Amino acid sequence: MSSVDIPMKQRLWSPLVRDLVPYVPGEQPKINNLIKLNTNESPFPPSPKVREAVISALGLDGDVLRLYPDPDASSLKQVIATYHGLATNQVFLGNGSDEVLAHIYTAFFKQSLPILSPDISYSFYPVYSQLYAVETVQIPLDADFRIDVNDYKVPNGGVILANPNAPTGVLLSLDQIRQLLSNNPESVVVIDEAYIDFGGQSAIALINEFDNLVVCHTVSKSRALAGLRIGMVFGQAHLIEALERVKNSFNSYPLDRLAIAGGVASYEDDAYFQSTCQALIDLREDLVSKLQGLGFDVLPSHANFIFARHPQHEAVTLAKGLRESGIIVRHFAKPRIDQFLRITIGTAEQNQALVSRLQEIL
Ligand SMILES: *Cc1c(COP(=O)(O)O)cnc(C)c1O
Repeated sequence: MSSVDIPMKQRLWSPLVRDLVPYVPGEQPKINNLIKLNTNESPFPPSPKVREAVISALGLDGDVLRLYPDPDASSLKQVIATYHGLATNQVFLGNGSDEVLAHIYTAFFKQSLPILSPDISYSFYPVYSQLYAVETVQIPLDADFRIDVNDYKVPNGGVILANPNAPTGVLLSLDQIRQLLSNNPESVVVIDEAYIDFGGQSAIALINEFDNLVVCHTVSKSRALAGLRIGMVFGQAHLIEALERVKNSFNSYPLDRLAIAGGVASYEDDAYFQSTCQALIDLREDLVSKLQGLGFDVLPSHANFIFARHPQHEAVTLAKGLRESGIIVRHFAKPRIDQFLRITIGTAEQNQALVSRLQEIL
């Protein structure tokens, strides 16, 4: 673009920013009584222990907020390491999984070879590829929207995928992940497990076996704490050290005091966590069978959302019809998936409202 073509308000922007195509999060409308099934938040409240811990960390007068938090969030790191049977130097923490993913790009993916990622996956990956100027080759999912790990056998500067994948919900087995890691011994392989707690087996089990494995988790989905902003990475100590270097060159205090306290309480209340994950899975299976009853094709989901299409109805039309009655779901206007709706699993009442409304529309 020559300087004469640059719109006035952009004239002081860097060329990189002018060309950026930022990630568009699912909307967070401020409307009452909305049935919000568009951003994969939990339909359950967080553990009541989280609320207690956050209030108690704040203290009576909030004076503690004058002071910076622990830059290492050591108390939370310790609790999470113990929870997963890892050492604290195998755990990295950041301000939400999106932030730790950004640090992963800087720490591992700025290589001469391009990284590999599925053509249909978490839509933040291509945004980071652009922001960090990391060349990315997209590997198509197969006709059933599955990842074939043997497609990732080409030379690369890294691999990133979500498991279960988003927005499909389709899961790879631990054996397939092991295959992917063995096929790529010279690259960092990142498995984003934002939805692993809804029925998958975590690759954390493989960390001590593979020195090229990086696993990401978040408290936003299965722990009902999207508002607290905690994301984490698990890997061998040499990989975590690279991430700490990036973090300490970016923001030394990514986790605030309230997030640290609330995060600890969440991991300490495992009974609540296990029971809400199971309840979510039960709600999902029930919703899947009802939607199949209405004629929907539903991809096999191991997440807290489903990806579904109706052979006789346009996805856009369905989404619009739902919206008119205050039910919001996510539609991606992208090749291959523009006939699908991504529907977050809600409470039993919300799911019923969705099914009833779809019945009317169809
Ligand atoms: C939601 C999500 C994230 C981001 O989680 P935050 O911790 O809320 O930033 C990362 N990866 C995938 C695949 C997600 O769906």
